[in-house]
Amino acid sequence: MSSITSHIENVSVSDLVNRYGTPLYVYSKNNIEKAFKQYKQAFGDKKHLICYAVKANSNLSVIALLAKLGAGFDIVSRGELLRVLKAGGDAQKVIFSGVGKTREDLRFALETGIHCFNVESEAEIYMLNEEAEKLGKKAPVSFRVNPDVDAKTHPYISTGLRENKFGIPYDEAVRIYKAANALSHIEIKGIDCHIGSQLTDLAPYCDAVDRMLKLIDELSANGIQLSHFDMGGGVGIDYEGEELINLQDLVNMIYEKLGDRPLSIAMEPGRSIVGDSGYLLTEVILTKENEGKHFAVVDAAMNDLIRPALYESWMRIEQTKESSATVESYDIVGPICETGDFLGKERELALEAGDILAIKQAGAYGFVMSSNYNTRGRAAEVLVDNDQVYLIRERERLEDLFANEKVVSFDEK
Ligand SMILES: *Cc1c(COP(=O)(O)O)cnc(C)c1O
Repeated sequence: MSSITSHIENVSVSDLVNRYGTPLYVYSKNNIEKAFKQYKQAFGDKKHLICYAVKANSNLSVIALLAKLGAGFDIVSRGELLRVLKAGGDAQKVIFSGVGKTREDLRFALETGIHCFNVESEAEIYMLNEEAEKLGKKAPVSFRVNPDVDAKTHPYISTGLRENKFGIPYDEAVRIYKAANALSHIEIKGIDCHIGSQLTDLAPYCDAVDRMLKLIDELSANGIQLSHFDMGGGVGIDYEGEELINLQDLVNMIYEKLGDRPLSIAMEPGRSIVGDSGYLLTEVILTKENEGKHFAVVDAAMNDLIRPALYESWMRIEQTKESSATVESYDIVGPICETGDFLGKERELALEAGDILAIKQAGAYGFVMSSNYNTRGRAAEVLVDNDQVYLIRERERLEDLFANEKVVSFDEK
């Protein structure tokens, strides 16, 4: 049987549940700080920029905490830029990724003045040049290059292979850089790649660095000098006992290969900053047995946490107190009308109705991917700091879920 999560930092799970109800996302402040500082430490006094990937967990308080620790931000929409500004983040440390930035996105970021656009296609660079010209500005640019390496992770979170939609093709990079270099309102700053997520092995990063440095040298030989190399994110976390990448090894490897090229290094970690800090607390509504199979139906569902359904992810699910109930092998399922609505399968747990379960490592790609499917309000989010608890997002009220809808009056006429 698994261990027991009775407290998050110094607050008891039962206190949290009594005060805020379930399902409830809980984040440990200390854990986020620790994760960010591990990156800072690995880089030490080398010139670098760590841009937290906002999409992993975009709560304003999470952004504000990281801003205070000195983080930059990797964003993928102007909505995320708005969040960063609202939370007190520094626009000068923002990089803007994404394959489908609209002209409105580009304009807003140009007006705000960000660190760099990570451009993902040739078409985008012309759009950006036009928008920058209209505003009388020069757009700082890096191209996301697809290094065509296999990150050996789940296909849905592998992004560095030739057939993925991300970035510009490796073999066309020099030609596209030259074309961009000739544009009047573009300023070439750097180069970036992001090969996938939940990487647990250094080898794909080594391959990517080799490939990218070769390209950097080729660009240099063509008179294009870059000032930064952005390695993207992707460092994995321990969901089920994976061997993890040692950040110091990763950083040492990069600098060793970099040699005396005068490039500063950027990274865009998301999951590895916030993943471990998060818990989704959920109450067992009832247990049932169908044809010898045991189910625990809980009040969290795929609309709250879609990772198991979407990526076939395995997530730790722990009891939050000792129980005298019989241990059974339970499928932990939500109330949503989809067979894919499960949070875990065949877990040895001792459960009764009313028990609280903790789904661990739920801080990244958890709440942010939640939806209102089945007209379910999104969970509340709280941040725990030692024995202090801060409500950082209120539970959605059901009436608010359809507040923007209109009822057509079919009787008239
Ligand atoms: C999602 C994403 C990241 C963050 O990835 P993690 O695996 O969460 O570290 C970084 N860069 C880009 C471009 C992304 O799309």
